[in-house]
Amino acid sequence: MRIRRTPFLTYFLAATTASRDRSHVIVLLVSTIALTVQTSLAVANDPPVATADTATAEPAAAADKDRIELRIVFDNNPSDERLETAWGFSCVITGFEKTILFDTGIDGKMLLRNLEKCGIDPKEIDAVVLSHSHGDHTAGLAEFLKVNAEVEVYMPAIFPAQFKDQVRQTAAKVVETEDPQKACEGVWTTGVIHRRVPEQGIYIRTAEGIVVVTGCAHPGIVQITRAAKAHAKEPVKLVLGGFHLGEIMPDGIERVIDGLKSTGAKQVAPTHCTGEEAIERIRKAFGEEGLAIGAGSRQVFPAAKRQKAAEPDGDDQNAGSAPR
Ligand SMILES: [Zn+2]
Ligand SMILES: [Zn+2]
Repeated sequence: MRIRRTPFLTYFLAATTASRDRSHVIVLLVSTIALTVQTSLAVANDPPVATADTATAEPAAAADKDRIELRIVFDNNPSDERLETAWGFSCVITGFEKTILFDTGIDGKMLLRNLEKCGIDPKEIDAVVLSHSHGDHTAGLAEFLKVNAEVEVYMPAIFPAQFKDQVRQTAAKVVETEDPQKACEGVWTTGVIHRRVPEQGIYIRTAEGIVVVTGCAHPGIVQITRAAKAHAKEPVKLVLGGFHLGEIMPDGIERVIDGLKSTGAKQVAPTHCTGEEAIERIRKAFGEEGLAIGAGSRQVFPAAKRQKAAEPDGDDQNAGSAPR
């Protein structure tokens, strides 16, 4: 393991190489500087959302194959007060053949502490899926790999070569993605959408429909949800993650709400970079199905029955992006 760049450098390089979204770069840069002086500016910028579904008793990690659990382990919005918060996003998905870490937050040590508080052993994670190259989603990876490098790391092929090389210097396998990619039965990446900042989401199959998870949703939360739904050919149960609407005008937020409703999404759970006003409006528009989430909150779903035939055809899509 020789990833020696600090989260700041990792963040800064990733952001400046991959982002044309300057406002986002500035927000993250400020947050990263705040992190280095051990303050939590991001929390100050993003006031707490109401707590819901806060975990109380551990152990939490679910090995139960009839039950899918999605646990947020890194977020600037708080939920379970035991967990630390800082700018970024990360969640753990259990209940499938593989335990998945989606994104890694901006601070790997904090990520590991939060995992412990959630009763999740980092060594049980089999695969890491990175949404896009911004440091608030990728900078935690280096510390994580020090504890468990026996993982596949799925990342858009467009990620900086230096980043991929650093991961390859560990025992981890880099899986470069472009089209939707199967991580294991029931878990797929959405495919990389090249709009603004290239980014992929992930979707998981449950008995109640698919759950779409996004990092920042720079290409658009509606676009990512549509891509997931088109590939899965199943109804959308929940859309969860960063919706990146912090600087959008109010009528833009309304358009996004209409767009989300047009996908048939039953529930939404906006957090991270969604923006305080947008979170409020979206949640209100979905009523009880607009969920309040943050670091430590969890969502539980019944597992879909094993239906090989119902899986999107595309095992062969793995062929073009085998571990390298
Ligand atoms: Zn972000
Ligand atoms: Zn981002």
